[in-house]
Amino acid sequence: MLGMFYKILKTGIVTEKPADDSEIGQLAPELKRMVDRQFRGSLAIRMVDAGSCNGCELEIHALNNPYYGIEQYGVHFVASPRHADALLVTGPVSRHMESALIDTYQAMPKPSYVIASGDCACDGGEFGVSYASCGAIENVLPVDLKIPGCPPSPAQLMRGLLLLMGQRNPTTLR
Ligand code: SF4
Repeated sequence: MLGMFYKILKTGIVTEKPADDSEIGQLAPELKRMVDRQFRGSLAIRMVDAGSCNGCELEIHALNNPYYGIEQYGVHFVASPRHADALLVTGPVSRHMESALIDTYQAMPKPSYVIASGDCACDGGEFGVSYASCGAIENVLPVDLKIPGCPPSPAQLMRGLLLLMGQRNPTTLR
């Protein structure tokens, strides 16, 4: 037990605040309001890495850290597509992941959203279309929202979710 406290003291705070966190203070209550209104307080997201370098995943994971704590606003990442309202996809779609991605989408209850997160997911990024890659997510699935960036920050992801809940047509976060 003492060893654990020693380790906590020695490690210190591992989550850094962004340089400017005023935007988060505005986005968070708005996100909660929209999730409450459109998803009865709980928006469930299934995340699929279709071929990313993992940079995008690190930013998505940050949404659940003690600083952003997106669960408290009603946004949950779920293990099963059958429980998901939205599919969040990163990376270009590698040929090996194409059928798994389609299966995941087909297993979701409809209507459901598809969000392309990161430049690779939006337009193929560095990788494009090749023998190993299908390129952008929209080459495989209908996409409702594109969140560009390499990788997009947690604040951009939050803004993207807000944009998604505010409209019904495919769009790109600017
Ligand atoms: S957009 Fe950038 S961080 Fe995300 S998967 Fe592509 S190369 Fe990696």
